[in-house]
Amino acid sequence: MESEASLTSDQLRALDKAHLWHPFTQMRDWCAADHDPLVIVSADGVWLQDSDGNRYIDGNSSIWTNIHGHRHPVIDQAIRDQLDKIAHCSALGFTNDTAVRLAEKLVGLFPPDTLSRVFYSDDGSTAIECACKMAIQYRQIDGCPERSAFLAFDQAYHGDTSGAASLGGIDTLHRRFLSYGFDTWHVSGMEQLEQLSDEVLSKLTAVIVEPLIQGAAGMKTWPSGMLAALRQWCDRHGIFLILDEVMTGFGRTGTMFACQQEEVIPDFLALAKGLSGGYMPLAATLTSETIFEKFLGTIAEQKTFFYGHSYYGNPLGCAAALANLEIFAAENTLAKLQGKIALLSQLLDEHLAPSPFVGEIRQCGFMAGIDVVRDKKTRAPWPAENQTSAAVCREARQHGLLTRPVVGDTIVLMPPLSISGHELETAVRALAKALSTLDTADD
Ligand SMILES: *Cc1c(COP(=O)(O)O)cnc(C)c1O
Repeated sequence: MESEASLTSDQLRALDKAHLWHPFTQMRDWCAADHDPLVIVSADGVWLQDSDGNRYIDGNSSIWTNIHGHRHPVIDQAIRDQLDKIAHCSALGFTNDTAVRLAEKLVGLFPPDTLSRVFYSDDGSTAIECACKMAIQYRQIDGCPERSAFLAFDQAYHGDTSGAASLGGIDTLHRRFLSYGFDTWHVSGMEQLEQLSDEVLSKLTAVIVEPLIQGAAGMKTWPSGMLAALRQWCDRHGIFLILDEVMTGFGRTGTMFACQQEEVIPDFLALAKGLSGGYMPLAATLTSETIFEKFLGTIAEQKTFFYGHSYYGNPLGCAAALANLEIFAAENTLAKLQGKIALLSQLLDEHLAPSPFVGEIRQCGFMAGIDVVRDKKTRAPWPAENQTSAAVCREARQHGLLTRPVVGDTIVLMPPLSISGHELETAVRALAKALSTLDTADD
C-alpha cells in the first residue's frame, strides 16, 4: 500500500498513458500531453475522490453500477466476511452456499412459479449471451432449429461481446461487428414489429428489449404500455421475450425492476450492473421452469447447456449482491426513492430546462438524459466533432460533479439511489453552471 501511495498523480497518469487502453476511448486524445485524466483513489457514499484530494459526486453511478453509494458498511462487511471463508470456487461439480442463497433471493423477487432458475455469469454482455444461447438451443431441442434469429430494436444496446453486440442498434458502436454474431432483425418500434412477414416470424426465437428506457441510445424512453404490448405480441406468436434489465434493474426506474411497472414477466431476464450494488462483476440470467425443463435429458440426448464462465456464482460477488438486497429492505430504499425521483424532476425543470443549450430532458425514475443542443428552438445539435456535451461534463467537475454523455450529445444524470436531496441539488446545479459556460460563438 505504501509504495502505491508514494506514486504522485503525475506518475500515475504517465504510467496509465504508457500501459492502459481505455474502453470506448480515442487513445490519441487520451494520451495527449495536455490531457490530465483524473485518478480516482477512494470514495465515500456518493463522493469519489481523486489523487489530488478533490471530491466529486458520482453522477452516473460509476457507469450505472452503484446503487447504495460507495463503501456502504453492510456491503463492505459482507465482502470481508466472505473473504474469511472463500473468495472463489468453481461451480462445476459442486455448489457454494452464497450462490445458492442469492439465487433463492433473486427468484423471490418475482411472483411464485415465474422466474425460478438463475444462471450466473460475470457482466451484462455474458448474461445476454447466455439468454440468447438458451433461446437458440431451446428451439433446436424443440425440433425447430430454423428459429434461431433475434428481433431487436434500433438504437438498442445489449453489450459488447460478439453475440450481444450483434443485437445492438447503435451504428458507431455496433456496425463494424454486426455480421459476426447472431442473426438479428432490427425494428424501430411496435408499429414496425406488427408489419413483419410470416416468413420472418417463423425464423425468430426471441425479441430482446431494454424495458421502459434505452440507455446507451441517449436515455430514450418507450411509450407507456409498450412493454405490455410487446409481451402480448410475443405470446401471440410464440416468441420468447428477453428483457435486458442490466441498466434498469435494482431500483433505477423507481421499482425494483422495470418490468414490474407493466406487470410483465419475461422468458429470460438479464441482470448485471447493479446486482452486486456496483461492487463486483456479477451477472445473472433468470428464466422459467418450463424453459429449464426443455434442457433435461440423458447425456446421449445432448440437451445439456454447454455454456459458462470461470467465475460462475463467484462467492464474493454473490455476498455483495445479498448485502445489496438486504439494504433495499433495511433502508427502505425504494420507498425513500419516490421523493427523490420527484425532487429530480423538479430540479431538472428549475435549473436545466431553462438553459438555452438544453433541448429535451427525458427522465425515467431516477435516470435522466439531458440533450445538449446548439439552438433550443430548432433543437439543432452542435457539430459532433466539438464533443460539446463531453466538454460540459469536464466543466461540471469544477463544480463537483462527475458524469459523461452517451452516444450523441445526451448527458446522463443517474446518481446512486442513496444520494441525499442536498447532494442531488449540488449535482444538478453543477450541470447548470457548466452549461452556462457554453457559447454559440465557440464553433
Ligand atoms: C451496460 C449494459 C449492458 C452490458 O453490460 P456489461 O456489464 O458492460 O457487459 C447490456 N445492456 C444494457 C442495457 C446495459 O446498460
